[in-house]
Amino acid sequence: MIEFIAPLLFVFLLGACFGSFANVVVIRLHEMSSLFGRSRCMSCQRKLRPKHMVPVFSWLMLGGKCADCGAKIHFQYPLVEFAAGALAVVTALRANPFGANFAQFYFELFLLLALLIIVVMDFRWKELPVEIMAAVGLIGVGWRIGNAFFFGNLQMTAYQTVIGVAIAVIFFGCQWFFSRGRWLGSGDVWFGAMMGLVLGWPETGIAIYLAYIFGGVGVAALFVLGVVKKGSRVPFAPALALGLVSAIWFGDAIRNWLGALFL
Ligand SMILES: [Zn+2]
Repeated sequence: MIEFIAPLLFVFLLGACFGSFANVVVIRLHEMSSLFGRSRCMSCQRKLRPKHMVPVFSWLMLGGKCADCGAKIHFQYPLVEFAAGALAVVTALRANPFGANFAQFYFELFLLLALLIIVVMDFRWKELPVEIMAAVGLIGVGWRIGNAFFFGNLQMTAYQTVIGVAIAVIFFGCQWFFSRGRWLGSGDVWFGAMMGLVLGWPETGIAIYLAYIFGGVGVAALFVLGVVKKGSRVPFAPALALGLVSAIWFGDAIRNWLGALFL
């Protein structure tokens, strides 16, 4: 039992530390400030000491308040750290970080953390960071080309990538253009391009389809709960991110299922 639990605990802590860095990226991207330099309290500007930077734990010990000035620390910090730890554990169950497929573990974890950053920024400020989406798109297509080079068909992968990007950009671009940005922001078009690069076709189609189901169910639930009112803009990136992740986790199963239905 302990041989099983101990590595997962280590992976959770590793993920939580990455989550701590993801928090820094979120804040500095929002403020357009440098990624380097020590973290400070947002209220009193005093530098954080190492014992205040332990993921999740420090926030709980401090009761969610700055040790110097007592200002409330946003719940984004422990939430993202915990989510990153949990995502690292799920990723480790898919690809063993200590085994031969450790590269897949780090690639998928990077992807999930980048999506976490995008989702948090969309929730808090309705901003979609183009820098992160461009980085994810490039690394994602690099990963797929690398895989195709060693294990697959390079030409096929190139076609699938071009088709995935084209359909996603046209699909979201039309909605953005014809609604003059009311249904979708230009950031969502970038998100579509990123999806196409990371997934290729037909997984991009599956991801978009799932995103609309998740988005529809989510908005209906929030509407019933009274959290959103008619005409208010709901962030769409969380649904798109869920669709993308589902396409990676369950894409093969969904494709087989669709194939069994239509072929
Ligand atoms: Zn403070």
